Amino acid sequence: MKYIDYYEVLGIPRTASDKEIKQAYRQLARQHHPDLHQGDAKQAAEEKFKAVNEAYEVLGDPEKRSKYDQLGRNWQTGQDFEPAGTGFAYSTHNTADFDLGGFGFSDFFANIFGQDFAQRRQTGRPASFKGEDIEAEISLSIEELLNGAEKDLHLTTPNACIACAGQRFTSRGVCPACGGLGMTEESKTVKVKIPPGLHPGASLRLKGLGGQGHGGGADGDLYLHIKAASHPSWQLANKADLTMDLTLLPEQAVLGAKIPVSTPHGQLQVKVQPGVRSGQQLRLKGKGLPQGPGRYGDLFLKIRIDIPARLTDEELALYRQIQKLKAPAAEN
Ligand SMILES: [Zn+2]
Repeated sequence: MKYIDYYEVLGIPRTASDKEIKQAYRQLARQHHPDLHQGDAKQAAEEKFKAVNEAYEVLGDPEKRSKYDQLGRNWQTGQDFEPAGTGFAYSTHNTADFDLGGFGFSDFFANIFGQDFAQRRQTGRPASFKGEDIEAEISLSIEELLNGAEKDLHLTTPNACIACAGQRFTSRGVCPACGGLGMTEESKTVKVKIPPGLHPGASLRLKGLGGQGHGGGADGDLYLHIKAASHPSWQLANKADLTMDLTLLPEQAVLGAKIPVSTPHGQLQVKVQPGVRSGQQLRLKGKGLPQGPGRYGDLFLKIRIDIPARLTDEELALYRQIQKLKAPAAEN
């Protein structure tokens, strides 16, 4: 029989996580679903769809995946495969030994996993299970991070297919209701309450907003990852620290000044010491984003020194005087 590289079929590395495997499978199964293709393309899609389904049947199940991985890594798709010498317990079966008709599995699958698969069909569907957890991301303004907000979220939730109870196959083959995906997708808009004091990178777990449970099992949860939206004056430096530019006139830098600064926590008068340099940073402690209960990051002011676009004759005359003082010899 011919070896099949299931990782190659799903286009994923051998180190792929369960989540990556599921994502790759769903994407390929949608792409190659035979109902979406016509004519010659339909048959090619059917072949590809079968292959993808088979690969996921193995890699999507930790037990089968580990059994498959034991076969070794050096085999390539299409190579004549003899499990002898791999140390793998193996018995010869052929497709006809199990009721695998209609599932479209390869001989390779039938030989190695056919028995497990057929047995699992006989034990039937799980009576109940929890709905799938999902993840989403939301960008919040700095004000929303500080004060909390109520937001509308558009979600696509995977609900276990009722026809096959999320098992992807019915007793006769690929489930016709979900096309083998094991789930149907539902788009919905939900209102979520964002509590005040979240920092970018935090995650909220919102119970029951994931996929529907089955047979009395709880609905899945939503893991909402918090991001900071960009802001015209404050930039996120790390988890909770912000930076902003503070532009000074040359005389403010030389003589020192009190400058009004807008922070996320309101307006402040910032005292700039005489002799401050361009590029220097001033730290306003605790004026950044929330970092935990009652704790805040810092706001760093990056000093820039700029000259006004226009100087009056009087100002220019004064600058000339400074120039003379500094370098009398170079003066014309
Ligand atoms: Zn189904």
